[in-house]
Amino acid sequence: MTIFWHRRDLRFSDNAGLYRALKTGDPVLPIFIFDRNILDKLPSKTDVRVEFIQRSVVELAEAYRAHGSDLRAYYGHPVEILRELRDAHQPTAVYTNRDYEPYAIARDLAVKELLDEHDIPFYHFKDHVIFESDEVQKQAGGPYTVYTPYMKRWRKQLATRMSTYEGEDISYYLKPYPTEKYAGNLLPGKAPSPVPTLEEMGFTPTEIEIPPKEASDETLKHYHSTRDYPATTDGTSRISHHLRHGTVSIRAKMLRAMQLEDDTFFRELIWRDFYSNVLQAFPRVVDESYRREYDTIPWVNDEEQFQAWCEGRTGVPLVDAGMRQLNTIGWMHNRVRMITASYLVKHLLIDWRWGEGYFADKLLDYELASNNGGWQWAAGSGADAQPYFRIFNHHSQQVKFDKDYAYVKEWVPEYDTDDYPSEPLVEHKFGRDRALRVYKKALTEA
Ligand code: FAD
Repeated sequence: MTIFWHRRDLRFSDNAGLYRALKTGDPVLPIFIFDRNILDKLPSKTDVRVEFIQRSVVELAEAYRAHGSDLRAYYGHPVEILRELRDAHQPTAVYTNRDYEPYAIARDLAVKELLDEHDIPFYHFKDHVIFESDEVQKQAGGPYTVYTPYMKRWRKQLATRMSTYEGEDISYYLKPYPTEKYAGNLLPGKAPSPVPTLEEMGFTPTEIEIPPKEASDETLKHYHSTRDYPATTDGTSRISHHLRHGTVSIRAKMLRAMQLEDDTFFRELIWRDFYSNVLQAFPRVVDESYRREYDTIPWVNDEEQFQAWCEGRTGVPLVDAGMRQLNTIGWMHNRVRMITASYLVKHLLIDWRWGEGYFADKLLDYELASNNGGWQWAAGSGADAQPYFRIFNHHSQQVKFDKDYAYVKEWVPEYDTDDYPSEPLVEHKFGRDRALRVYKKALTEA
């Protein structure tokens, strides 16, 4: 028997690793583990991600049941659970899809060691991105660190591969992996195994509404003109959390994006691969500024101001609306992510890692690579970042992107009343001048 281990690929269809496992012909036992190494460290027992994952695993189990098989879902420590499975079943092999985050890499190394003890191979496949870092390299070798040349090379690479590969395995180049075709190779299910409930894992359910897996044709058609306006309902696709947890396939989304007349949406999806490429090639960015000199900036790190920012009480309407949107629904519009991040690192002079950590706790679509990339972009310290001297003016951002204050009023109902602060925590001109002075001094002396 072969084990297929689901992680950030919570779907049966078009799943690279599962397809490979099924194709061997050995009966496949699918598993999922609610990882206590992660769950036990979460700051709250009400967590929209855990809830989303739990619901998605229930859906996945139903998909397996529809094929006469059964998903085994465990709650525990992956190495211990895989040791038990190894000893109980002596599987021929364990298959999975690659995860590029440092914790996952260390976990997989530990799993490999325990499988090695019994000479059980551990196979892993590319599923979460279109191209891994070593597949899109500079002409002279080495990873790209700037988006535009990366994107051009990425496109060339895709075009070449799409025109060269044939047969079932062209799926790498966007066609779906036909997992259904080999469903007969799944281990038949006897009695369905229950998926652990949120309550059994000590979590409290919320009423969180999960946006659908597919953006409407209308949204994608108008994406280039609506995507920057946070008040616009359905102005963006809202699929980030599905991509993060693999409840949809990135290949399918890319294929659809390629068919659109305008390629703005397609290029946004390539940003996701770009940031994954940066994390894979430079894992040190998890803790350090990509441009090391930025770690000499003497941050003010005022805890009270940080708390006000987290709670949406800065007196800057767009920042407050964004933070309250995040705190309420676990998602924030991209333009507002840029504005809130910029206000924290420039106007409040608070270390980007504080903001990054807060987003990581709250975002339903939290993806280490994209979040780190977004924060280091805002701080100026990233691989391809906004130059430090370009500082968002929240007044002009308001006029340009939410001129009727529709977004602000939706999330900050007391705006326009005496209850809303008449002055921001840090006023724009003062904050801008201070940031320029502090950044410039640190960077020239570094
Ligand atoms: P759409 O605009 O519809 O875009 C479609 C998809 O393209 C997204 O779902 C996402 O997968 C990808 N994408 C779009 N823009 C980016 C981008 N700049 N970087 C990487 N991928 C992108 N995105 C995350 O998925 N997880 C994060 O943790 C995350 N943190 C961020 C933090 C900051 C400070 C900033 C500025 C951006 C962050 N982003 C993150 C990127 C972006 O804000 C979200 O992907 C987007 O808002 C999700 O909404 P959507 O699916 O409607 O996006």
